Amino acid sequence: MKTPSALAMVPFVSVDHMMKLVHSIGLERVLSDLATYIEQDFLRWDLFDKTPRVASHSAEGVIELMPTSDGEVYGFKYVNGHPKNTRDGLQTVTAFGLLANVSNGYPVLLSEMTILTALRTAAMSALAAKHLAPKGATTMAMIGNGAQCEFQATAFKAVCGIDTVRLFDVDAAATKKAARNLADSGLKVISCTSPEEAVAGATIITTCTADKQYATILTDNMVGSGVHINAIGGDCPGKTELHKDILLRSEIFVEYPPQTRIEGEIQQLAPDHPVTELWQVFSGQTKGRKSDRQITLFDSVGFAVEDFSALRYVRDQLTHSGLFLELDMLADPDDPRDLFGMVRRAAPAVAA
Ligand code: NAD
Repeated sequence: MKTPSALAMVPFVSVDHMMKLVHSIGLERVLSDLATYIEQDFLRWDLFDKTPRVASHSAEGVIELMPTSDGEVYGFKYVNGHPKNTRDGLQTVTAFGLLANVSNGYPVLLSEMTILTALRTAAMSALAAKHLAPKGATTMAMIGNGAQCEFQATAFKAVCGIDTVRLFDVDAAATKKAARNLADSGLKVISCTSPEEAVAGATIITTCTADKQYATILTDNMVGSGVHINAIGGDCPGKTELHKDILLRSEIFVEYPPQTRIEGEIQQLAPDHPVTELWQVFSGQTKGRKSDRQITLFDSVGFAVEDFSALRYVRDQLTHSGLFLELDMLADPDDPRDLFGMVRRAAPAVAA
């Protein structure tokens, strides 16, 4: 039987490879590199095919496909969001993704993206904050201490230079876990017993909770002037974290308005409420923070271009890291039109 040609073999980066990759490069370096890759792609925003992600909702959660292309490479991510999963010992968010050549449609990378999503979400948050948070911000409140939490804290240290994180979660065990994981991170870690205590003295507030309904993690009186809010957890229709009054006092920055209007905090506002697209800030076309007293809000939902950037980064590490398997994923007959013949020739020999 013919062995698959190199073209037909698709590099696959497993969860184990991804963890080894993070350790071989260093977590903070990976987060900084991902922020750079995302910024590069946001600077060529016009090139990308853009569409709100395709979401399949159920009572328990959502399953989504997130496609995009820059004209040369196509990518998509499969991702779910099931807030009740942790009760059954499962992740709220799991994901995998793929890159393909636009010229022939052949996949060139398949990768786990559960870890990569946490990395890219943290990198994107920190990148937005680099442009929006008050200069010299050193303290971040981190509300919601689940799977994304430590990645967020580490990215803000690596990209924005924070030195203190104030943790709060309704589940004290989650805060304990995050404090333990961040103990040797170089951050000063303060565990708090209420969201009010967590935001005290913080110039950056990250909300990263999971609930399949409108929730009010932050009320208006908890947010003082000059704060930057990084709202990650509200990322589905009917799933938000901030009181509407906070939105009305904030300058709101988004990834891709047609998707954020459906999924973000701004689903609580009029459909024409003004928002600023982050690519315009990164490119210098629009100013980010305009005054010390302004409240800036990154209404994060996670957009396909960020996953594309993350997969592009992983692909660029393949050759020197060697951290991948080759998957026999594409049929490769000698004569491209003789697919049937290839299957026929693969029949097990019949015993005489
Ligand atoms: P997770 O389930 O691991 O953690 C969520 C944490 O929030 C839990 O520890 C829970 O106890 C806590 N929590 C729930 N309600 C709370 C409240 N009222 N106050 C304080 N804490 C509360 O989930 P995760 O993987 O960390 O993801 C968190 C959220 O971020 C999810 O909603 C997910 O969909 C979203 N997310 C967004 C992006 C993005 O790009 N914007 C990317 C990944 C995940």
